Amino acid sequence: SSDEESGEEYLFKIVIIGDSAVGKSNLLSRYARNEFNMHSKATIGVEFQTQVLDIDGKEVKAQIWDTAGQERFRAVTSAYYRGAVGALVVYDISRRSTFDSIGRWLDELKTHSDTTVARMLVGNKCDLENIRSVSVEEGTSLAEAEGLFFMETSALDSTNVKKAFELVIREIYNNVS
Ligand code: GDP
Ligand code: MG
Repeated sequence: SSDEESGEEYLFKIVIIGDSAVGKSNLLSRYARNEFNMHSKATIGVEFQTQVLDIDGKEVKAQIWDTAGQERFRAVTSAYYRGAVGALVVYDISRRSTFDSIGRWLDELKTHSDTTVARMLVGNKCDLENIRSVSVEEGTSLAEAEGLFFMETSALDSTNVKKAFELVIREIYNNVS
């Protein structure tokens, strides 16, 4: 295509990190395939999904990586992070321990990245308002303190899922173009 000839084609690697069972795999399946699984198994997972977007008439491919359960053993490898230019750092608004882990995930991301990474803090499962244990304000202030974008999402009811991924993708595009 003429895009290829002019070199105006982009491939962005984006990683999803956060504690086990916060909903990383379901955020990806909701975004990429509009699917949700109530009983998803940590061990079942694809390496990555590719989404193609048009930004300013340029073809942008977002290659979004899922951990396939290694985070359970704190064994996310450096290969997982290698080349990533975007990251969704996810916690579960109904489980405070997953919010308390965010600092560790940000440290790990920083350790493994050698470039500017567009980072979004994601408070997932916002449909579980009745058992919320992390307030919106706490998410907002952590994001401000760490210089992250922030959104609450629900992979279950689709709230903000597309928005969260596409904001990160656009930010990466702005960083490189
Ligand atoms: P991962 O280990 O971070 O990949 O988490 P999963 O995507 O496997 O999800 C863990 C569990 O949380 C599964 O039972 C999902 O059905 C459930 N889950 C994921 N996202 C949501 C959500 O937005 N709302 C609710 N209520 N449950 C969710
Ligand atoms: Mg998973």
